Amino acid sequence: MINKTKIIKEISDAGLVGRGGASYPTAQKWVAVHDALKTKKIGYIIVNGAEGEPGVKKDGYLIEKYPETVIDGIFLADEYLGPNKIKKIYFFLSKEYYRKYASGLKKVLALKKYKRLAEKLEFFIKPEALAYICGEETALLNLIEGKKIEPRLKPPYPTTSGLHGHPTLINNIETFYNVSRVNRGKYQEDRFYTITGAAKHRGVYQLPINLTVEALLRKTGNYPDWPFFVQVGGEASGEVLNAKQLDRPVEGAGSVMVYRAKGTDKHELLKYWLKFYRDQSCGKCVTCREGTYRLWELINRKKMDYPFFWEIVLALEETSYCGLGSSLPLPIKSYFNNIVKK
Ligand code: SF4
Repeated sequence: MINKTKIIKEISDAGLVGRGGASYPTAQKWVAVHDALKTKKIGYIIVNGAEGEPGVKKDGYLIEKYPETVIDGIFLADEYLGPNKIKKIYFFLSKEYYRKYASGLKKVLALKKYKRLAEKLEFFIKPEALAYICGEETALLNLIEGKKIEPRLKPPYPTTSGLHGHPTLINNIETFYNVSRVNRGKYQEDRFYTITGAAKHRGVYQLPINLTVEALLRKTGNYPDWPFFVQVGGEASGEVLNAKQLDRPVEGAGSVMVYRAKGTDKHELLKYWLKFYRDQSCGKCVTCREGTYRLWELINRKKMDYPFFWEIVLALEETSYCGLGSSLPLPIKSYFNNIVKK
């Protein structure tokens, strides 16, 4: 039995926030599900290892290196919410992560301590299509329920009305890992950063939270000695910054992609982003379904119609139903503002 008041205080005092990108306070989410379960008979836990944003690799790293700590965090969540109330736990992973890391996780689940947890934990494999959007909490609920993969209107939030209408705790793998460390007194106000692209030492690094982009690049020996720019927060939806803007904290899912300023083809980069959004749009709202497709058409024309291009980008920013469509303008606008016009 765990001391529920104590663990929530510890999580809150540690300042743990979600690490899937939204940075929602972990303690608040746990308490919300716990409170909702007072009037509901059953609830669910979902471990979100979707990691659909290109360039973010920390969840895979964590379940490879620390499967025991991740499982222990899930165990604590189950204990806190009430093992008799939590009917099922879904561990959501890509096919690649499942193939590479499920055996390590299963070994831990075979330990006596986790017997009851293992009986209700089911691995759920991410489909290859719409790999990004199905990491969004409500789209993930739809996916597990066998419905069309698209985000739901919020509220109600999953904490009160999630899977099959029951209270559902959805946390990222890194959050469960951190909860376990907090409980063991081993949390050190750090987080995981992924460095990708043209960086010398690409990889996942465990370093203090709130590092600036510059500090992260320097600490990891990745500060380039050639002209460069970066994309912070994911290779698709992250903000693009030039070398004079690196005093900002690394936010979101904690990734930094390094680009060579010379040799990065503007047209190819735009094509990469636009193809990603075109392929990942779930089609629920017209702005994103049509907008991402039209942008893709425009970029493939011989001569770019920039006024029309920016009109669509603005429409996506202002009227998209969910964060996928509304995040498209960030990389594109910041790239033009900070790099192309520099
Ligand atoms: S913005 Fe795009 S991904 Fe989001 S609901 Fe609309 S169509 Fe789907």
